[in-house]
Amino acid sequence: MKIDVNWERCEGHGQCEAAAPDVFSLDDDGELHFAYDNRKIPEGEAMAARSAIGACPVAALREVQ
Ligand code: SF4
Repeated sequence: MKIDVNWERCEGHGQCEAAAPDVFSLDDDGELHFAYDNRKIPEGEAMAARSAIGACPVAALREVQ
């Protein structure tokens, strides 16, 4: 799976980081870092990544093929 991040929509709430800390992280300035931008997310992270999609309060994350 891949995830598309809508960077304009993201407000740095950090729920994605809580759900999938190896995929998403916020830096000290509250900026989101996405470890798999334009890259396939490993199978082992897919479940956590999907919960991150569901956890984002502004729907900034979307699964893409
Ligand atoms: S949960 Fe959504 S709004 Fe919050 S940092 Fe993650 S992508 Fe951005």
